[in-house]
Amino acid sequence: MSKFYRLLLVGAPGVGKGTYSVRAATALQCAAISSGDLLRKEVTNKTEIGKKLQSMIEGGVLVPDEIISGMVASHLKELKQSNQFPGGYILDGYPRNVNQAKTLWDSKEIQVDHVINLTQPRNVIVTKLSSRRCCADCGFVYNCAKINEGGIVMDPLMPKTEGVCDKCGSTKPLVTRKDDQLDVVEKRQSEYEALATPLLEFYESKRILHNFEVLGGTKVYLPKLLDLIKSL
Ligand code: AMP
Repeated sequence: MSKFYRLLLVGAPGVGKGTYSVRAATALQCAAISSGDLLRKEVTNKTEIGKKLQSMIEGGVLVPDEIISGMVASHLKELKQSNQFPGGYILDGYPRNVNQAKTLWDSKEIQVDHVINLTQPRNVIVTKLSSRRCCADCGFVYNCAKINEGGIVMDPLMPKTEGVCDKCGSTKPLVTRKDDQLDVVEKRQSEYEALATPLLEFYESKRILHNFEVLGGTKVYLPKLLDLIKSL
């Protein structure tokens, strides 16, 4: 019988969590659930909640715990009912702090069996973030940087067919997210570091934390990550 994964990917903004989460989920027939994407969809669709939270999301400020906990839980419930993902799910961006992690740990609906912490030197992350581009329609993430720093070599990650989004086929020009602007990037890195330490300690204490160093592009590191996941 094939495995049913219930995973969380953790890592600083820009480490590649979103990219690895979507690609690993596709390979494992899992749903990739990104809290940031769920929130941005509310903003794009101009829902009441989206209008209320827009400035926080675009300014890199964390939205209230109860809102995001409820949003992820109800999204997962819908996905479960759809039976589209026999491989399970990979959470990305939620939980983001110990309070959210405790809510999730006590939840009957969503569980996490393993947490994978993606790590990378900070200078590489900052270079990558300033070169990050997204599909204007579905938010799928690309990167136009060619990185060659401290032994880390990463090729740009752009649509397979130039000008056409790999995920949704949109032909609109790629855009830079407001929260990828440099001042917001710095703020998000510091905020992440303050929150991540206790979050990682929480999962370490539960003995489900695995560190995974990303020292190259997805071509080499996605298969390595999949090997790790399959070995859990
Ligand atoms: P991300 O795409 O994960 O970087 O998220 C973008 C923005 O969405 C963050 O800067 C926050 O404003 C909000 N957000 C995403 N996930 C969470 C979360 N788990 N808790 C609170 N706010 C979140």
